[in-house]
Amino acid sequence: MTAAAIDWARVASDLAPIGCVADRALVRRKSRDFFWYSPVLNERLKHVRADLVVCPADEAEVVRTLAYCHAHRIPVTPRGAGTGNYGQAMPLEGGVVLDLSGHDKFLWLEDGVARVQAGLKLADLEAHSLPRGWELRFHPSTRRTATIGGFVAGGSGGIGSIQFGGLRSRGNVRALRLVTMEAEPNVIELRDDDVMPAVHAYGTNGIITELEMPLARSWPWREAAVSFADIGAATAFAGALGEADGVVKKLVAVCDAATVRYFTPLLGHLPEGKAVALCIVADPSWEAFAGLAQAMGGIVSFERAVGAETDSIPPIYEFTWNHTTLWALKTDRTITYLQCLFGGPDYLDRIARAVAQFGDETPMHLEFSRVNGRVAAFGLQLVRYTSRERLYEIIGWLEANGIPVADPHTYILEDGGMKQVDEAQLAFKRRADPLGLLNPGKMKSWRQQCS
Ligand code: FAD
Repeated sequence: MTAAAIDWARVASDLAPIGCVADRALVRRKSRDFFWYSPVLNERLKHVRADLVVCPADEAEVVRTLAYCHAHRIPVTPRGAGTGNYGQAMPLEGGVVLDLSGHDKFLWLEDGVARVQAGLKLADLEAHSLPRGWELRFHPSTRRTATIGGFVAGGSGGIGSIQFGGLRSRGNVRALRLVTMEAEPNVIELRDDDVMPAVHAYGTNGIITELEMPLARSWPWREAAVSFADIGAATAFAGALGEADGVVKKLVAVCDAATVRYFTPLLGHLPEGKAVALCIVADPSWEAFAGLAQAMGGIVSFERAVGAETDSIPPIYEFTWNHTTLWALKTDRTITYLQCLFGGPDYLDRIARAVAQFGDETPMHLEFSRVNGRVAAFGLQLVRYTSRERLYEIIGWLEANGIPVADPHTYILEDGGMKQVDEAQLAFKRRADPLGLLNPGKMKSWRQQCS
C-alpha cells in the first residue's frame, strides 16, 4: 500500500493508547535533522516528511508499533533528538517516524558500566553517572541535546575520542537490545563484537531500545584555547599533545584563523589572526599541558574550569566537532564542510598539503583522535561552497592524495563512510528487517540486492 492510500487517523486510533502526533507542522519538524548543513542534501531533502509520528513510552509499545507497521507495510524511521547531519533520521519514503525520546530511563550503573534506555539524553546519562565518579568515554558536541541511541546508531565519535577512539572501536559499546521488524518482532540482545552490525547503521536493521555503555573515570577538567602563529604550529602542538601519553585529555581540536573568526562569543578572548587549539585537559595534567604549549610557541589565551560555563560562552566543546560548522553557518549560510581522515605517519604533512592546495576556500578545522591505536586528525574543514562540481573536485583531490573522505553530502550509509558493503550489517538486515521497512533508502547494498 502506498503512504497516500493509508488512513493515518485510523492508524493512530489502532495504535492507541500509544502516543501519536498527526499535526502537520509538528510532523514536519520531527521529519527533519541537520541535513541543511549540506547544500546538496538541502536541495534533495527539503520536502521530505513523514505521515505520522509515533511516540512509544516503553519497549512493549515499540514491539506493538513495529508489528502493526509490518502488517500494513508501513516504513518506519527511528528518531532520537534529530541532530544527525546527513538526513539520517529523515523518512525518505514517508510513513512513520518512531520518536524514541520518551523511552529515556537510566537503568543501572555497576562497575563502570551504565545500562540505559535508548532515548536518554547524553547529558542526562552523565547527570546520573557523574555524582558516582563516572562519565561517558566520549560524546558528540551535541551532548546537551542528543540521545544515546541516536549517537550509537548515527554518530561516530567526539569529545574523548583522543583517548578512546570511536563508536566502532572494539569495546566502546558493550551491549545493545534491539527490536526487529518482523510479523512478530523479536527482541534481541547483542553483546561485545556482535553489536557492530547495529552501530552506525542509521536504524536500518533494528530499533535499539537499551544500551550498555562502558564509562570512564571522571576527572576535574579544564578547558583551554591556545593561540599559535599559524596552522602549522597549531597542528604540530596538537599532534604532540595527542601523543603525550601522560597528559590526560579529552579534546584536541585545531582551527585556523579563518575558522576562528566565526566563534563570536570567544573572540574577545582570542588574539586576532591566529590559529587556535581548543583543548580539555584533566586538572592534574594542567602544568604538563601548559608547559608543552609554551615550549611549542603557544599562548594560553582562554582557560576555564569545566562546569564554570556562563550563558555568554558555552562549553568549549560546543565550538568543536560539528558545532564548528554551525558557528560558521550562523554568519554565512553559503558555507558547508567536509569530513576526511588525515592518517598515517606523515599525517601532519598531508594536512599541510591540503592547506596549501585550497587555502581560504576550505578554512581548516581538525579534530585529533585515536584511530586504530594511533593519533590521527579528522578534517572537518569548512568549504566556501560555489557548486556541487567544485565540491566533488575538492573531494576528488583529497582522495587522490591519500586522504579518505566520509562524504557528508549523502544520506547513503555506505557512501558517507566505509565506501564498501558491510557484509555483517547487510546480513543482519536480512534477518532483522526482511521487508526493508526500516529507514528505507539509506542502505545502498540492500537496494542493490533488491533490484
Ligand atoms: P538522530 O539524529 O535522531 O538519529 C541519528 C540516526 O540514528 C538516524 O539514522 C536515526 O534513524 C537513528 N536512530 C535514532 N535513534 C535510534 C534507535 N533508538 N534505534 C535505531 N536507530 C536510531 N556526531 C558525532 O558523532 N560527533 C560529534 O561530535 C557530533 N557533533 C555534532 C554537532 C552538531 C551541531 C550537529 C548538528 C550534529 C553533530 N553530530 C555529531 C551528529 C549527531 O548530533 C550525533 O550523531 C548525535 O549523537 C545523534 O543523536 P540524535 O539523538 O540526535 O540522533
